[in-house]
Amino acid sequence: MATLPVFNKRILDRSAVLVVCAFAALFLAQCSGGGGSAIFVIEPLPYSQDALAPTISADTMGFHYDKHYAGYVEKANALTKGMRFDGKTAEAVIAKTAGEASKAAVFNNAAQAWNHAFFFKCLKPDGGGAPEGLLAEMIDATFGSFVEFKALFTTAAKDQFGSGWVWLVLDEGKLAVVTSANADTPLAHGLIPLFTVDVWEHAYYLDYQNRRVDFVQSVLDNLANWDFVAAQLEKAQPPKA
Ligand code: MN
Repeated sequence: MATLPVFNKRILDRSAVLVVCAFAALFLAQCSGGGGSAIFVIEPLPYSQDALAPTISADTMGFHYDKHYAGYVEKANALTKGMRFDGKTAEAVIAKTAGEASKAAVFNNAAQAWNHAFFFKCLKPDGGGAPEGLLAEMIDATFGSFVEFKALFTTAAKDQFGSGWVWLVLDEGKLAVVTSANADTPLAHGLIPLFTVDVWEHAYYLDYQNRRVDFVQSVLDNLANWDFVAAQLEKAQPPKA
């Protein structure tokens, strides 16, 4: 068998190094996001992880934000890498994959990323109490009173079988309480989300074990950020001039 002359072998070694370098550069470009190509970002919490205690402990918040939420965001980015979406937003991914059986993994992670970012914004330390203004008027007109709304919301939470979410939404301009299973989101059904509580067990089990209604009741009474909810309502139904 003929052996390669020494100078040829050097050229081959050099080419191999160049090829490896090229692949490394490509890999690094992909990892660094190639100029911000990731669709999903981990949105910062608007309060510290221990600020919602005792309704939601720092322990629960830590697992929920750092593990569950961050995990959905990372997985959603990994699954959508290289896919094309108009606008490259979470909403666009949700709209394009909703109801597509072959895209269920993408939808589930994208919707969970969106649902969690929204949920965390629905809460604030020293929240709760009763809403005011248009939101309060619409709640009274739709549900009879704020107390009746809260009863309906907690009952919906109790009756949601397995993992899911309870929502206050706008349905063709009218308020409604709806639930969604697993990762599903009102966004995928033409509804406008105004407020939500996560009723997956990871949201409350460390603090409440199986007492889901106690968790939801305490969120409504102590953490609900009605200013955020009112702002969502105003965005959806700008006051008439
Ligand atoms: Mn969750």
